[in-house]
Amino acid sequence: MANLGHQITLIDSEVAAAINQSGRRTGTNASLGVLMGYTFRRSSGRAWRLRKQSMQLWSRWIPKLTTPELPLAIKSPLIKFASSEKEFSSMAKLVKERQDLGLKLLEEKKENPFNHSLPQMKYGGLISNKDGRIDPLLLQQALKIALTKKNVQKITEKVIKLERDSSLSKSGWKVYLKNKEILHMHTIVLCSSLGTEKLLNPLGYKVEMEPILGQAISIKLNSENKNWSNWPAVLVNQGFNLIPQDQNKMLIGATIEPGKIPGKIYLDKMKEAAPELLKNASIEYQWYGLRGRPVNRPAPILEVLEPGLILATGHYRNGVLLAPASAEWVAQKIQETQNK
Ligand SMILES: Cc1cc2nc3c(=O)[nH]c(=O)nc-3n(C[C@H](O)[C@H](O)[C@H](O)COP(=O)(O)OP(=O)(O)OC[C@H]3O[C@@H](n4cnc5c(N)ncnc54)[C@H](O)[C@@H]3O)c2cc1C
Repeated sequence: MANLGHQITLIDSEVAAAINQSGRRTGTNASLGVLMGYTFRRSSGRAWRLRKQSMQLWSRWIPKLTTPELPLAIKSPLIKFASSEKEFSSMAKLVKERQDLGLKLLEEKKENPFNHSLPQMKYGGLISNKDGRIDPLLLQQALKIALTKKNVQKITEKVIKLERDSSLSKSGWKVYLKNKEILHMHTIVLCSSLGTEKLLNPLGYKVEMEPILGQAISIKLNSENKNWSNWPAVLVNQGFNLIPQDQNKMLIGATIEPGKIPGKIYLDKMKEAAPELLKNASIEYQWYGLRGRPVNRPAPILEVLEPGLILATGHYRNGVLLAPASAEWVAQKIQETQNK
């Protein structure tokens, strides 16, 4: 938005918070940064379009955001193991359609470079050469630097109320902050995830979102000396992402738990994604975060509620992946309003 010449103010009580993964974090700080765009199971509709567009945009955005101190890159490939024969046949179909997008089949009995280093495949899987992972902490740091360069104003405050502002022409808004300050804005883009409902209800909108908790762990192998050669950037097994880090270290996540309180049982389940590997490993640290999932409608919510009030939120499990396509959608809506 700032690149397009708009004057932006970013208001979030968390905007100056440390970028790390300890304890309970907001959705973005908790994220693992996995980008599963081209492995998406459907080949039509909004969800597929947003994924494809995001993957293309990420490869254009990264060179613009990277610096020698914050070297950003999409690490690839991503391998996904099938969890049933049925899933494997769906994968085979997908691979046929998307060879030009870097998808290949991994068959259980055929020799492949990963056979000896990864946990055993039961039903086969697929490899996606363009999907992978971006380090979400580096990414946020890089974005913050880019915002400063573009003179984006950052306000570390909570918004407590939004009100239509008739003193401004056409579509103006009053933004009430917790510190009692009132700001006047031409356009509001709400990206407030689980805080959205409270701001919209008094304006007569019902946009429901529920918290879905996610836990992740960083583990260290106690005995093996592993440098993860012949491992992909991400292995998805039984719904969990296994992400090799420095020697002997790995990130694993994330659980899907309704509500806001982390459970114990899910951590044990996570270890089942690589039982042999994790038999002799200890948890270095763990964290959890909340994802905002729209109720009774698909994620994400991209909607113009009225002139100057735009919703781009509720990204649920794919907020990092979909960030560029969401931002482009918002930019387009703002452009359309300006052209009217
Ligand atoms: C453990 C875990 C792993 C994940 N892994 C991945 C992954 O690998 N890949 C992927 O793409 N996605 C992943 N996600 C999902 C991803 O993190 C989210 O979809 C994404 O972070 C959502 O971003 P957001 O900015 O919409 O919401 P958030 O990051 O939750 O940010 C919402 C912000 O709004 C602010 N806010 C709310 N109300 C107000 C208010 N009234 N005034 C001011 N500010 C307000 C909050 O302070 C907060 O900073 C994961 C999530 C979790 C929990």
